[in-house]
Amino acid sequence: MLIYLNGEYLDYSEAKLPVDERGLQFADGIYEVALIWDGRYVDLDRHLQRLERSAATLELRLPFMQSEIRAVAEELLRRAQPRLASLYLQVTRGVAPRDHRFPAGTVPPTVIAYIKDATIDQEGMENGVAAITEPDLRWLRCDVKSVSLLPNVLARQHAAARGVREAILVRAGIGVTEGSATNIWMVRHGSVVTAPESNWILSGIVRGVVMELTNAERLPVAERFATQEELMQADEVFLTSTTSFVTPIVQVDGRSIGDGTPGPVTMRLQELYMERLSRLASHVVD
Ligand code: PMP
Repeated sequence: MLIYLNGEYLDYSEAKLPVDERGLQFADGIYEVALIWDGRYVDLDRHLQRLERSAATLELRLPFMQSEIRAVAEELLRRAQPRLASLYLQVTRGVAPRDHRFPAGTVPPTVIAYIKDATIDQEGMENGVAAITEPDLRWLRCDVKSVSLLPNVLARQHAAARGVREAILVRAGIGVTEGSATNIWMVRHGSVVTAPESNWILSGIVRGVVMELTNAERLPVAERFATQEELMQADEVFLTSTTSFVTPIVQVDGRSIGDGTPGPVTMRLQELYMERLSRLASHVVD
């Protein structure tokens, strides 16, 4: 596997970092995951814009212009030539003797990028997946795509231990926020409901696209926090993310959603989303 690390393209075994790298010691960094579909990047600009927003919130100075990091992404793609994969991109506050305060002077950020194979869960996309609910234990800036993912890791592990795909996070006093690594949607009485863009969720790139699709389909949408009870009584539930696309959730906490099969609104949005991916891959301007 080829790794881009601070300006160099290295073999996986050569890509090494010092122990006092701030990503390792403080999770003091941000990341992005972008999709490569049919050999081309999907919505890379939107991912790079989100990276800039995350960096600004953490007062992290990005050591590159968007065009430079795009060139790195394109070079990795040229060398690996995958059909279906994801780009992982991470920027941290660099290497410095351990101290909570930002390093003094001009310590360069650490930049890591590589391409990782991806797979489609065809079965889950067609027949739906199961989920559990978990308390949302994260910090108050979930809009930042920070590498500090411990609560997400725990929630996803709890889901895996129960043999289900995702953990749907419920924030005390707020309601359903999102999944451990996905945005969560429901359909209730013909209206599509998802958490509003705010500090409580990551504004998913796929969330943004699906929002555009609901508008194009003239589906009524309410951006609000649903209660856990509303989630359990929803007609349909689905998740979205870069590597999961639009996937129906047919069971939550062991109880069926609707009739326990993927609903029509979910499947229509999935169809439109997959059509858009094909259109982008066939070079047709969106
Ligand atoms: N929420 C969280 C917490 C995530 O980690 C992700 C995946 N990065 C998402 C939502 C979905 O975002 P996207 O559509 O950009 O993949």
